[in-house]
Amino acid sequence: MTTVEQDTILRNVPVELFLGGSSRPASDGLRIPVYDPATGEEIACVASASVADGLAAVTAAHEAASGWAATAPRARSEILRRAFELMTGRAEELAALIVLENGKTLVDARAEVAYAAEFFRWYAEEAVRAGGTVQTAPSGANRILVLRKPIGVSVLVTPWNFPAAMATRKIGPALAAGCTVVLKPASETPLTALAIAQILTEAGVPAGVVNVLPSARSGPVVQAMLNDPRVRKLSFTGSTEVGRHLLAGAAKTVVSSSMELGGNAPFLVFDDADLDVAVDMAMVAKMRNGGEACTAANRFYVQRGVAAEFTARLTERMEAQKMGHGLDPGVSLGPLVNAASRDKVAQLVEATVALGASVVTGGTIVDGPGYFYPPTVLAEVPPGAPVLVEEIFGPVAPVAAFDDEAEAVAMANDSEYGLVSYVCTRDLGKGLRVAEAMDSGMVGLNRGVVSDPAAPFGGTKQSGLGREGGHDGLLEFTESQYIAVEW
Ligand code: NAD
Repeated sequence: MTTVEQDTILRNVPVELFLGGSSRPASDGLRIPVYDPATGEEIACVASASVADGLAAVTAAHEAASGWAATAPRARSEILRRAFELMTGRAEELAALIVLENGKTLVDARAEVAYAAEFFRWYAEEAVRAGGTVQTAPSGANRILVLRKPIGVSVLVTPWNFPAAMATRKIGPALAAGCTVVLKPASETPLTALAIAQILTEAGVPAGVVNVLPSARSGPVVQAMLNDPRVRKLSFTGSTEVGRHLLAGAAKTVVSSSMELGGNAPFLVFDDADLDVAVDMAMVAKMRNGGEACTAANRFYVQRGVAAEFTARLTERMEAQKMGHGLDPGVSLGPLVNAASRDKVAQLVEATVALGASVVTGGTIVDGPGYFYPPTVLAEVPPGAPVLVEEIFGPVAPVAAFDDEAEAVAMANDSEYGLVSYVCTRDLGKGLRVAEAMDSGMVGLNRGVVSDPAAPFGGTKQSGLGREGGHDGLLEFTESQYIAVEW
């Protein structure tokens, strides 16, 4: 991609709040600079919503709510289908935009756009299948009729690591269910969300149904919206720390809350695994998005007999990665999103090495510009080391050995998180037994990627509440209404 093409993409991207069907600056004129993490240079400056803007967006969403809920499911479905087609048609521009504001490679960004668009297609199909039930009461006296109604105005808050997919994974089911939304994207990556709002408008979404408000004042703006009785749903994706805070905020007005939070995925390799498959899987599970994924393999537990061999092969693949600007062809690892993220990764590695782990490759910050951290493998990582306990969110693979299945299961489940686990073995019986023993919402069995718009995505323990994707994702934006009826 040339500099001219980049400039064209950035010039065409909206930078104002998208509120009530039109673009406008923040009520008090404040703005947020957006940086390219590979260079540290400012690439755009977007409007930063105030509390007044947040409440105006709730008004717009509330005013559009009854009309959208009354729109025929088939009509809502066709709008979502058009959004899928528009997004797919603009995949290259959107992918480049994601690279510019997030830093990931073009390969990862293209995959994200395809995955993100699929949520519009899947929920176009689900919009006509919200369903409901009817049954005879056990007493035989009446019927039990259950309707699935749109839950109402929904506040959506998304992170920077998948700026397109985390937005469509919420907007798709909300619109399919008949809800109107206010989306607050992460301040690091607001451009993709604003571009998606433009696509939805072109697809035929009426004014007020989707509002997008970047804001550097997330806390007060989101809390003001949650305090507003017209808001009925909060759907959040981000860190466990912020999720806990928002749950407490939602409790004040008893707002229904879905939480997709942090992860600390264990990756188990048994000694009967095909090590070629295990290493391929490990590279995907660890290095997709440069390790900045909630589903990233965070802890590699390898059966003792194959630990050295696995570590050597993984190291060879990690050392073959090419770091650089995500738009450069051949680059397989971009920068981390900002200096704070890079420094946190470096601190976790330093603290772990201080406890006795050895650095097999990588392990030191690369000089700027940009926020680069090299592919890193740590061996003989002791139990309780910070890299095993905390979400790394970077290209660091800590390896520790286990002796038997029971020990592997205990080590994997020894975490406050429970989003996803990975298991590699050629013995399918053992694989399924271990998968079932994982205290996590998802398991990749001989697969390094679990994400699929048709599957329920979500975690146990402090990784979250509720599920996104699949039919479950639609139900999160509905409320049952039971009518006791005699006829
Ligand atoms: P974050 O929690 O810092 O921010 C997420 C969003 O919340 C952003 O839009 C941010 O502006 C907003 N926010 C921050 N403080 C807020 C407050 N006080 N009130 C209201 N909103 C607030 O997370 P992040 O750094 O953007 O993303 C990385 C985290 O997201 C990781 O922990 C990762 O595991 C998690 N994540 C989870 C999933 C999942 O599906 N489980 C998917 C992607 C990312």
